[in-house]
Amino acid sequence: MITIRDIKAFCTAPDRIPLVVVKVETSEPGLYGLGCATYTQRFLTVKDCVENYMKPLLVGKDVSRIEDIWQMANVSPYWRNGPILNNALSGVDEALWDIKGKMANMPLYDLLGGKVREAAAVYRHAGAISTTNPKYGKLVTFDELDEQIDKYLAEGVRYIRIQYGRYGGVHALDDVKPEGACEGVYYDPRRYMRETVQTIAHVREKYGDELELLHDVHERLEAIDAVRLAKELEPYNLFYLEDLLAPEQVDWFRNIRSQTTTAIAMGELFNNPNEWMTLIKERLIDFIRVHISQIGGLTPARKLQILCENFSVRTAWHGPGDVSPIGHAVNVHLDLASWNFGIQEWAGFGEGCKEVFPGCPELRNGYVYLNDKPGIGVDFDEKAAEKYPCSTNLPTWTNARRPDGTLARP
Ligand code: MG
Repeated sequence: MITIRDIKAFCTAPDRIPLVVVKVETSEPGLYGLGCATYTQRFLTVKDCVENYMKPLLVGKDVSRIEDIWQMANVSPYWRNGPILNNALSGVDEALWDIKGKMANMPLYDLLGGKVREAAAVYRHAGAISTTNPKYGKLVTFDELDEQIDKYLAEGVRYIRIQYGRYGGVHALDDVKPEGACEGVYYDPRRYMRETVQTIAHVREKYGDELELLHDVHERLEAIDAVRLAKELEPYNLFYLEDLLAPEQVDWFRNIRSQTTTAIAMGELFNNPNEWMTLIKERLIDFIRVHISQIGGLTPARKLQILCENFSVRTAWHGPGDVSPIGHAVNVHLDLASWNFGIQEWAGFGEGCKEVFPGCPELRNGYVYLNDKPGIGVDFDEKAAEKYPCSTNLPTWTNARRPDGTLARP
């Protein structure tokens, strides 16, 4: 029997975004697994959970029993389904799948039933701010937005997320804030809606119907405004409209469904199965958008993917810069083995990530490819990782405020 000998957590920021990597070492010399436990906004707390709770719980356990280990580690703290514990669990879970693939001498997608496609189609991000006031950050004109789109098209990308400035659009005007208003990233939701529709209309007009367009609302609208935006964007035939509502307001998806055929993606902030169950079984969404480490790793993500297949919901796993290359590779393994795959978000890797994580998946002509090594196929250079310490500065973009100073979610 091969057992868990040690569990370590590493924090590194090779592309300046803090990442958390879990390494599970085994009783078999040279056999280890790697998993992604990245919760970038609270990375130290995840590391602490892995080292002080997961390790004592799991050292000595049989590495082959992934399901039992997942179930045990999930209930060991009694209270469960939170982002810290789920990320720690993901790091261990993905590392155990990596080990199983290495033991079987098979890539992870083969353990999941084998490929149903050779590579995963991706979407890239393009963004514009349609104001001309230089006071509110970097301005990108429609011409500059078009340049970004042209660059992606030249690279073979066929799906592009179109944003109007930052999430929630441009900052609100300083002169409408009340005296003494709190610090924060100000935005105006109503103006954001108007300018988003104008921006997407511009892109559709210029590039025609072949280009697939996506947009992320990032939960920053009042519910009735979200219904209205989904209706206003219907003529532009989006591939999907993402995170239109905050997780606290998901009942409003029934209203959206009854009002428009705009395709809906949801779930980036979900941690708990209760958050997605109703949306899937009532067929209120078209794409599940969870962040795989936030729900506890590959084991629950595979179950979620199969649940979705039964209800005609496709997958669109969260794939931003705050997922390690190991986590991105797990997304793609699942993409390749899932009949109901929809699209893969692709942030791309900088030189730092490529140095620290040998074997990163590669983007070619709009598709991301894996390297077909056993397991997840991405390694981790511990020495190189030490060169890229993580900043403990708190995130500022999550402190978003409306024009009158009220804190917005998220
Ligand atoms: Mg999003």
